[in-house]
Amino acid sequence: MNAAGLNSLRNGPDENGRFGIYGGRFVSETLMPLIHTLQDAYEQARGDADFLAEMQGHLKSFVGRPSPLYHAENLSAHLGGARIYFKREDLNHTGAHKVNNVLGQIMLARRMGKRRIIAETGAGMHGVAAATLCARFGLDCVVYMGAVDVGRQEANVARMRMLGAEIRPVQSGSATLKDAMNEALRDWVTNVGDTFYCIGTVAGPHPYPMMVRDFQSVIGEETRRQVIEREGRLPDALLACIGGGSNAMGLFHPFLDDVAVEIFGVEAAGLGLDRAHAAAIAGGRPGVLHGNRTYLLMDEDGQIQDAHSLSAGLDYPGIGPEHAWLHDIGRITYLAASDEEAVEAFELCSRLEGIIPALEAAHALARLPEIAGSRPKDQIVVLGLSGRGDKDLPTVLSRRKS
Ligand SMILES: *Cc1c(COP(=O)(O)O)cnc(C)c1O
Repeated sequence: MNAAGLNSLRNGPDENGRFGIYGGRFVSETLMPLIHTLQDAYEQARGDADFLAEMQGHLKSFVGRPSPLYHAENLSAHLGGARIYFKREDLNHTGAHKVNNVLGQIMLARRMGKRRIIAETGAGMHGVAAATLCARFGLDCVVYMGAVDVGRQEANVARMRMLGAEIRPVQSGSATLKDAMNEALRDWVTNVGDTFYCIGTVAGPHPYPMMVRDFQSVIGEETRRQVIEREGRLPDALLACIGGGSNAMGLFHPFLDDVAVEIFGVEAAGLGLDRAHAAAIAGGRPGVLHGNRTYLLMDEDGQIQDAHSLSAGLDYPGIGPEHAWLHDIGRITYLAASDEEAVEAFELCSRLEGIIPALEAAHALARLPEIAGSRPKDQIVVLGLSGRGDKDLPTVLSRRKS
């Protein structure tokens, strides 16, 4: 038994999609039948050896898995502590971890006979992954994107259009990710028959947080095998950045029952936790948004507040419900890194390792001095390098000049 009184922390959620008091299915009556159909289809698919084998094949030949576990020797020496490894999700086709989840959901959509895929996107990485797999499998793709994000993520908008996706800019609210997700949910209710909603992180109503986690767990499963092969034992600590929390949950989940492995999630502290930020655990409280109960940034009246992060991929006022639960039971420690700290870490990693990281992942890199630098040299720390930073160069370079 562990701290939560469970045999395994990996068993959740319960049949109603609850992780403790978090998660669930807070959706309109019209969506309920769809959610149940989706859940049944997923339960069948996850137990089907043919489905899993086909997915394995695509992960290998199309996505390029397994991704390497890379020993960041220069950064380890620079910080003077533990041996640091990067799990290289930046080397996946389309340049981030998002494709692992999208592949799983698109294969499920095909199995369910759905020909129209809708998705929400912030920085555009999930939209690009969705557009890519829709092109590969000949499906229609509609991507909802906040008008502000359409303006600041030109390169990814161009990629999605090249791949044949239709972009629908969303003007409501703050015209960013949360508003895009509202619109996508509305589309889904309206087009229940032929449409599959492909959610990009471990959020939304049950079964999404569980399903996305399962598809992303390939990250942690590979890491486990690779670190044992290389070092003959499990790592001492894991860390990853948190937007909605899917790359982090994918890395962490296979290690949840290994209590000797310390686990750290890093939220975006933006301009500072006392100013504008996107750290739902550090600065939020439990409420309901996008179909689940979790920690959210809210004002005194319970209105959702706009998140702020220099990194569009972390610019979300919530966090996946499983993270909320793992925080409450004390299994995972949640930290934060500011815009400025992330930019510094971005530059340091580029110079020392020859790897330009996504600005999202740079938030995790920013906490390495405390998490790895303070440990003895024989310890092992694995960082989830969620994506590559090409998309962030204009943002980072424009700050350097000012
Ligand atoms: C989308 C994205 C994130 C944030 O999403 P999570 O669901 O928290 O993983 C982090 N890194 C990169 C590179 C992304 O594209």
